Parts: sequence; C-alpha cells; structure tokens
Amino acid sequence: MTAAPPTPDGGGFVPGAQRSGPPQPGDLALVVAGRRLLTGPEGFPRVAELPADTAWVPLGALAGLPAWGTELAGEDVDEDACPGRWRSWRALAAELPTPLADLAGRALAVLTWRRTHRWCGACRAELADVPGEQSRRCPDCDLYVPLRFSAAVLVAITRPGPAGSPDELLLVRHADGPPELWALVAGYVEAGESLEAAARREVGEEVGLALGAVSYFGSQPWALSGPGVLLAGFTTVADPAAEPVVDGKELTQARWFPLDALPAELPPAYSISRWLVDHVAARPAG
Ligand SMILES: [Zn+2]
Repeated sequence: MTAAPPTPDGGGFVPGAQRSGPPQPGDLALVVAGRRLLTGPEGFPRVAELPADTAWVPLGALAGLPAWGTELAGEDVDEDACPGRWRSWRALAAELPTPLADLAGRALAVLTWRRTHRWCGACRAELADVPGEQSRRCPDCDLYVPLRFSAAVLVAITRPGPAGSPDELLLVRHADGPPELWALVAGYVEAGESLEAAARREVGEEVGLALGAVSYFGSQPWALSGPGVLLAGFTTVADPAAEPVVDGKELTQARWFPLDALPAELPPAYSISRWLVDHVAARPAG
C-alpha cells in the first residue's frame, strides 16, 4: 500500500499586506536578492538577525507568525558575511513543506514586483503604496497598479489501454525544458479565456488532439520566474485511438505510456505536474 500522492492544500500560510504593527524580533524574515532567498540552519531567519534599519514589507503569516520581506540590492549581498545560505525557489520547494515554499514564492513575487513597478506606466510619475494592499497608485493620474501574476494550465490526458492492459498517459518533451524530462502539456492562459478553454486550446495546438470535458484537479503557485505563475491542473480522457501530433516548435516528442510503466524522468515531487501524474497512476484501472 503506497501513500496517497500529495495534493494542493496551501494550508498554513495566509498571504496578507496588512501591517498590524512594527516587525517583532521573532517574526519571520524573507530576505530576497535577485531570484534567491536567504536561509539559515532553521529555515528562514528571524527579523532580529537583520540590521535594525531594514525596510520591511508585510507578506502575511505562517501559522499565525507574521512574515516580512526585504530585498537587498546586488552590491549589498556579501554571501560570506551573511549567516546563512542563498537558495533558489526551486531548491527550497524541493526541501520545504508546501506552506513554506508558498511563502518563499510570495516573497519573491512581492519584492520583484515592488522593484519593477516603481513608476507609472501611463505618466511616469513615481507610484505610491496603497496601505494594506500589495498595490500602488499614481498620485498624478490615479492609475491603479496591483501585483499581478500569470495563470497557466497543465493537462494530464489518459486513454483506455488495450483490453486487459492499464490506461495510458500522454507525456511530452518540451523544446525549452530539460531534454530528458517527460512532462504534461502546459501553457499560459490568454486574456479573455477560461482555464478550461486554455487547457483544450493548448492540447489542440501542442499535440493536435480535440478534447471533450476536462476535470479540474487543483492548483499551485509557482515561483521560478517573473512575478509568479498560478498553475491549474486538469485531467481528461481521450479516445482510445487518439494519437498525438507534435507541433515541432514547443514540443519535440509526445508519447503514450502505460500507467504501470511510466518513465523515470518525471517532474519533481514538489510540482503539481507530478501530483497529477501520481494521481492518474493511482486511479483504479478501468
Ligand atoms: Zn500616472
């Protein structure tokens, strides 16, 4: 009997932008430099471990403990002087429980957004923080600039196997991903499109299959790039005779794998891609 695959929960970390008071010495400190975060022997450092004049941004709370973020400019980062280690979100997500990985992703998103949204895109005035929100407003033209992120979809497509054999899962290799990795069809949601429509469109574009109904599985905030991405996972069942045709641009390969003979080169255990694969592989046959 194997354990049930992890499913998206997000419990434990509650994002927020309210400042209930000044940061306390024991509060969590999320220190960002570029796309990396400072970690110590016990996870993230505490506010007391950073200089007293640090400018903190409220991020929310982890199990009731307030979390604050700050960004160091490149010239301020002395990796030898810092009592900790600078880690990427990918490395943290591979090690930490989901709520801590989500908090780390929010810190990267909020601080990257603050650095890259300083000026009004319409009139070039300097934007002002809106108290209690992760947003800014232009004092001259009133443009409202909230923190935004992108939505993307992933689709686990199965088809019935030959009589007496397990169902099969469609896995693909992306042209811009690790060449050996077998992954799921995925892509960004377009403006004006529903998640379900994006799932069907991406599958049509990338592997040439026309899908029927898609079923929502769950979601995961993903922080490998930019201001962040919200991944939404779907499952669907294709016709037994369905055969993929790769587009040759985004994908290099697409292949059906019996669910009892999946390849070893699957997405990492902390990703919703893998949760989807494990979910369909654990389904009762038939
Ligand atoms: Zn303006």
